[in-house]
Amino acid sequence: MNFLITGGAGFIGSAVCRHLCSNPDYRVTNLDKLTYAGNLTSLRPIEKAHNYRFEHADVCDASAVLEVLKRHEIDIVIHLAAESHVDRSIDKPAAFIETNIVGTYRMLNSALEYWRRLSSERKSRFRFHHVSTDEVFGDLPFDNSVFTEQTPYAPSSPYSASKAASDHLVRAWHKTYRLPVVLSNCSNNYGPCQFPEKLIPLVILNALDEKPLPVYGAGRNVRDWLFVEDHACALAIVATRGVVGESYNIGGGSERSNMEVVEAICSILDDKRPRSGSRRYRDLIAFVADRPGHDRRYAIDASKIRLDLGWAPRETFAGGLAKTVDWYLQNEWWWGPIRSDHHTSERLREERMSAV
Ligand code: NAD
Repeated sequence: MNFLITGGAGFIGSAVCRHLCSNPDYRVTNLDKLTYAGNLTSLRPIEKAHNYRFEHADVCDASAVLEVLKRHEIDIVIHLAAESHVDRSIDKPAAFIETNIVGTYRMLNSALEYWRRLSSERKSRFRFHHVSTDEVFGDLPFDNSVFTEQTPYAPSSPYSASKAASDHLVRAWHKTYRLPVVLSNCSNNYGPCQFPEKLIPLVILNALDEKPLPVYGAGRNVRDWLFVEDHACALAIVATRGVVGESYNIGGGSERSNMEVVEAICSILDDKRPRSGSRRYRDLIAFVADRPGHDRRYAIDASKIRLDLGWAPRETFAGGLAKTVDWYLQNEWWWGPIRSDHHTSERLREERMSAV
């Protein structure tokens, strides 16, 4: 089985590549443009594996994608490449429209052209798995409501709107052209190799640097959290066993407010890497102006993937968070260069947040 993973140098994509390469029957090709969020060192454990290849390309480049599909005789595409940071989408939406919408459109066209020329046996095996987010469903109140696969789309940010648009294109390519697609919509991921602009790694590394720990608004916004290795496992199952044309919600069943997440990180660090004197990490928490259009709450009903495909998360939030903190404590070689080499604009953003 030959897989093409787009965005495989990113946080989730690299976990997917590592996961798939552990199966000697799979061959994995990682296609990535290597934007600021792409990091080939996340692939170090498999870079010399016999069943792993890297292709440096842009998903917007339809002919490059088609050439990769043909050369590696791809059976399954798992399309993760995207601009993924909500705050960046608010500052500069253009790249989100280009990569997430136009890029997915070009991927679909290349996949369709490739699929149409396959033998009937390989044609029936081919899948285009589009990886999306629960953010397409929009804002939930602070009650017991959850997102199901039938929840209408109501995206709030340029990021979630661009992902929603790409989901619609994928469904249209299935209905109109019969391209065999599957989709998944997942909640917030956390774990090793996450770029340190996202909440959990940002808080861990700012704490270690004795910098303020930025929390939006009053920290009440609630997200469902899933350990990235559980997501990688779910994606492999959806891609290989999901029903064509269907979508699957993926979640960790671990709803936490941002404040609860930050406090949990602080108490893990208080144990593992205590500050000098009797100071506690939570004293570094700094409330910053809320994100515009900030959704209050996301929550996932993951019963379809559990009942139909037999997937459930293995990691608890407490266990996964402790593993994540340990990973950042032990792998400064991975994040040190990113933190010191950070784009100027990103450094300015952090300083702005710290100053509030
Ligand atoms: P990420 O930002 O860590 O990685 C994105 C990767 O895509 C990077 O390696 C980058 O170089 C690559 N890329 C960007 N533009 C590209 C282009 N034009 N051509 C080729 N490669 C390109 O993202 P992530 O957090 O790993 O998210 C991966 C996917 O999962 C995204 O589609 C995202 O919407 C989705 N998702 C993420 C989460 C989450 O919590 N992180 C949750 C649900 C769904």
